[in-house]
Amino acid sequence: MTGLAPELLGEAGVEKAIQRAGGCNRPVRLVGTKWLVDRQTGEMHETYSSRDEFDGFTYVRCGNRRAAVCPTCSHEYKGDAWHLLVCGLAGGKGIPTDVADRPCTFATLTAPSFGPVHGLRQKGPCRARRDRPLCPHGRALWCRRRHAPADREVGQPLCWECYDYVGHVLWQWHAPELWRRFTIGLQRRLAGRAGLSTKEFAAQARVSYAKVVEFQARGLIHVHVPLRLDGPQGPDGPPSTLDIGTDELEEAVRDAAAAVEYETPPLADGTAYRLRWGAQIDCRSVAASADRELDDQAGRLHPERVAAYLAKYLTKATEEFGLPVRVRSATHARIAGASPHVLRIIETCARLARQGEAYQRLRDNYATLGYRGHPITKSRAYSVTFTQLRRVRRRFRRDPALDPNADIREVLDDESPEGFELVGSWVFAGQGYLDLDQAASAVMAAALARSRRL
Ligand SMILES: [Zn+2]
Ligand SMILES: [Zn+2]
Ligand SMILES: [Zn+2]
Repeated sequence: MTGLAPELLGEAGVEKAIQRAGGCNRPVRLVGTKWLVDRQTGEMHETYSSRDEFDGFTYVRCGNRRAAVCPTCSHEYKGDAWHLLVCGLAGGKGIPTDVADRPCTFATLTAPSFGPVHGLRQKGPCRARRDRPLCPHGRALWCRRRHAPADREVGQPLCWECYDYVGHVLWQWHAPELWRRFTIGLQRRLAGRAGLSTKEFAAQARVSYAKVVEFQARGLIHVHVPLRLDGPQGPDGPPSTLDIGTDELEEAVRDAAAAVEYETPPLADGTAYRLRWGAQIDCRSVAASADRELDDQAGRLHPERVAAYLAKYLTKATEEFGLPVRVRSATHARIAGASPHVLRIIETCARLARQGEAYQRLRDNYATLGYRGHPITKSRAYSVTFTQLRRVRRRFRRDPALDPNADIREVLDDESPEGFELVGSWVFAGQGYLDLDQAASAVMAAALARSRRL
């Protein structure tokens, strides 16, 4: 072994590492061991150790959802998201298929307007106004152009001095609170409709959802969310005899969203904003009998179309604003090529971050333009989880004969033989691949350690 040239060993090590990490850009390197522990006697049997790898490391994929950071992991993440969403809408992998028969709607909650912006229109120009009005700063409040999606103007305000940047940032920052209030309001409305208290309602039904945020060109989020009415045990059972169908669910969604209000903690000058969802609240019913490819006449959507829309929003995140993953300041964003509108949003975030404790953490959220929520959040029992999907994938790599549609919970339960428990002990050793010199010495050190053990 040591007779081989170190460059060759190194190259083999690097190549094998890339293979083992499934082509990930920045895999995590771990050193450790996995054991099967006998539950009765406590006896440990080693089943795997990174010592046995060519270069002595175990590579774990970075799992980043952003294509700009890691294209392969982003691709995998998008696939997992699709499965998670589609299983929640149509069943599969242990989620019963009758979830597709429950009352279910695909709702979109929007942000209100903080001033007119250039936009994409289905037909006609951007903002046709016969009277050609001007704003107090003398700027045109009309635009005759038909913008293309790649047009840099799209999403930019017609007048940046009229645009309410403070309102915009405060809304985005508090959007998670608006969402929380919406879910409470929705429960209350549904309970009221069934003539029950919220407690009684919770004993009979629960609203399950998976919410995905999409960044609009103007830098504000929209929330896209399939909402499903389940029995109290979630996907495993339908709600008991409540007289609530998809129509009633949609009405409750619209009413609940329209009623949400939140008064922000006051700014340094004492002003507080009263925040609400945008007036445009859209609900489309989800039905397995709808067309997979086309828009249904009645506006219904097939579960797979909903899942595909949502998976697309998830990987896009804020990459379209030309921002790096971490943005330290407005100057940093300017150097990265952000638009004037995005820069003003980040400058406003920075200014608000200096106005008391409630807004300090805006500083950590420049890259998401002040949005602090996760891009996907779901209720406890919506569907299978990302963790389950990742564990099952590793299981499939070892055992390709497994049924891909099997109940995910059973596959995972089955991982360790009866009476044994799988435990591991891992130490973080670094991130990314080793360069050739490092890899050559790692490969030689690992070979040496193995020959010593023998
Ligand atoms: Zn990766
Ligand atoms: Zn325009
Ligand atoms: Zn103006």
